[in-house]
Amino acid sequence: MADIADVMKGDWTPFLRPGQDGDPDNGDCGVQLGDAIRHARAMFAALGMPCDQEGTTATPDRFVRAMLELTAGLRVDPDRHFARTFPAPSADPGIIIVPGIRFTSVCEHHALAFTGTMAVGYLPRPGAPVVGLSKLARVAREYAARPQMQERLGDQIVQAITRSLDTDGAACVIRSQHSCMTLRGARADGAAMVTSHMRGQFRESAALRNEFLTLANQPG
Ligand SMILES: [Zn+2]
Repeated sequence: MADIADVMKGDWTPFLRPGQDGDPDNGDCGVQLGDAIRHARAMFAALGMPCDQEGTTATPDRFVRAMLELTAGLRVDPDRHFARTFPAPSADPGIIIVPGIRFTSVCEHHALAFTGTMAVGYLPRPGAPVVGLSKLARVAREYAARPQMQERLGDQIVQAITRSLDTDGAACVIRSQHSCMTLRGARADGAAMVTSHMRGQFRESAALRNEFLTLANQPG
């Protein structure tokens, strides 16, 4: 089975280039790249890490571009992936779930990465159109690629599904490691954060919720 990361490969490229004309200050995605690099250089210097050696002179540039990539989801509308749907495959398609979606996000409190996997699913209303499976992964990963709180990320994903598709319910369970908790502060290495967001029938029916959680935890 193809890794979902491979399915996503290359997807960010159009959103990583701040300027098409080679001028980093004249971006076409609202990013003042030149300003950001100058400020990053000043920040490193103020921290006692001057970037004045051959190996470090481009560090502010690389740092800013890495942040740009980690927040690429700010410059897109993730819901666009739901624009194309397919006719209902049957009168009752049941629960549709994509487990094991790997993602990277940025904790908005520390600007440090958190990474993990999520399971995203929905329950189409009988007879309603469905979306391609990779679209669930694309939407989830683009909402993740923003400065986030995990609690909000799960909610945004189920809201996007509820808003864009004709469903009886949507669900998102996220399991992740936050480097602001594992590498610093509490240094709780190995600790995970798990959040669960359920809407519609997944919230109202314990049987459906349990079915979702069972499917979400099955090894790929
Ligand atoms: Zn944090």
